[in-house]
Amino acid sequence: MGTLYQDPGWYTAKLPMPYVTIQACSREDLLDSAKQRWQLIRQTRPDLEPALALQKELLTRIIDLAATLAGGRIPKLSLPPKYLAAKLARGVPALTGEPMPLPVAVLTPTLLQLCDALANGGAGEAAIHIRDTVASGALEAGSLLTASLRRDQSALRTGAVHRGLSPDLMWLVAELAVGPFVHALQRMLFANLAPGDLQTALDTWNHGYCPACGSWPAVGEVVGGHRTLRCSFCACAWELTTYACIYCEESGEPFVTAAPDPERKDRRIEICATCGGYLKTIDVPELSPFPLLSITDIETTDLDVAAMEHGYGRPPLKDFTIKK
Ligand SMILES: [Zn+2]
Ligand SMILES: [Zn+2]
Repeated sequence: MGTLYQDPGWYTAKLPMPYVTIQACSREDLLDSAKQRWQLIRQTRPDLEPALALQKELLTRIIDLAATLAGGRIPKLSLPPKYLAAKLARGVPALTGEPMPLPVAVLTPTLLQLCDALANGGAGEAAIHIRDTVASGALEAGSLLTASLRRDQSALRTGAVHRGLSPDLMWLVAELAVGPFVHALQRMLFANLAPGDLQTALDTWNHGYCPACGSWPAVGEVVGGHRTLRCSFCACAWELTTYACIYCEESGEPFVTAAPDPERKDRRIEICATCGGYLKTIDVPELSPFPLLSITDIETTDLDVAAMEHGYGRPPLKDFTIKK
């Protein structure tokens, strides 16, 4: 698979944590930045045009919802920093098992719009079916969104199958609609922390799953040699102290980093023969603000293809229900 590295020398030692380095961006800044990035992708990958057109529809709605939420509609969570620090020290993500008052009425219109965008963007009847089932109340938007927020794939899957809906598409659309809310919660808990127990617990968090919501990263964004994992759900950014498989912690020979295109060593996949997992790592000038991480994801789909062609995959979500 292209050029293989046992120990790429480009990851520097861990420096002060990157949580605070992603600044909140205005709606206009995000849309401008997204446009520029899509334009660059179009130049090299004209075949991605339909995927980019759909992503534009989806991200515009997600950015609008994030702006609405930023307007003061996020309920405060009363989770003391010391309590969260102790939870993280046990390897349990901050939001796991916590009551999170979901603003269903704010999120539902976006959920329906996302269904429409997916329907027009190629998902067709399957997306319209989900939209109609939610709009008619046959499927309660609140329970769908809550299942996604709680990362409860089996509840959501059961609900979908009972109603003859596509579980994968329903998972996707719920995740997209809840994303701005869970991102806001993550920022509320972790951004701009004063030095203290919680800051230390985050600095020493050395798991491959997200310290806020427990999801796996979508990609590793590498800025100045810092391999920063980026959560696929809440966009949290964290860095590990070890160079090893993020899923099973294998650090020996079965774990290698590969550049499928030897001319593009800035675009790599970490592959692990022990657990069969892979992670894309990409050199970028700066960490992507939410929700533009999905652009990093879409511009590296060729890396997913390369990994999957060689039999690697991404493991299912981790289950924290027994670890509380
Ligand atoms: Zn997360
Ligand atoms: Zn592994």
